[in-house]
Amino acid sequence: MSPFRSGNGAAWLDLLSTLEGRYRAQQFNTIGTTGQLRAWLRANDLEPRAAVTVADVERVAEARECLHRLAVARIEDCTPAAADVRLLNRLLDGDQGLRVTGPDLRPRRPVNVDDALARLARQAVVDLSGHGAGTLRACGDDTCSSIFLDTTGRRRWCTDLSCGNRARVRAHRRRESGPAAQAPGSRGTSSSPLRRR
Ligand SMILES: [Zn+2]
Repeated sequence: MSPFRSGNGAAWLDLLSTLEGRYRAQQFNTIGTTGQLRAWLRANDLEPRAAVTVADVERVAEARECLHRLAVARIEDCTPAAADVRLLNRLLDGDQGLRVTGPDLRPRRPVNVDDALARLARQAVVDLSGHGAGTLRACGDDTCSSIFLDTTGRRRWCTDLSCGNRARVRAHRRRESGPAAQAPGSRGTSSSPLRRR
């Protein structure tokens, strides 16, 4: 079984979930080594033919955070930072072309990590521009930074089961402690809370 979070609706969104705890005091990067990055790429049918280097690991982390900021801007209906748009275009420049092989039309393996990143960036463009199969949503747990494609209009949580549970426990505690415990302007769990940085 894969050690990586999946199920956000697209590989580029699963990439965002490889940094856990983005809004928490402690972060955990599940693709912090060349071996982990190669394993994540392999799990997503993006294993490059070239070696994966330490510089690749750093570039992927930079790209991941850029894509996360772009997704948050999209969800919050804000103008994305110009630097992030430039980086997205640089990622797209890494495209080495897509070819398929065999009767099952499998995509050829990416030449290198930049080629793999370009494929992820292409997916991101489709979803960020609103042409994907669903709507981008932030996980309903405001301490979780996962973003997913909601194809039903009803999904509230990412694939981490603990997110829905945590929010339900908090809502229960709020009800127990009564309305006085709710600070004015505090966010309810039914909205789409996104912590601004
Ligand atoms: Zn979550």
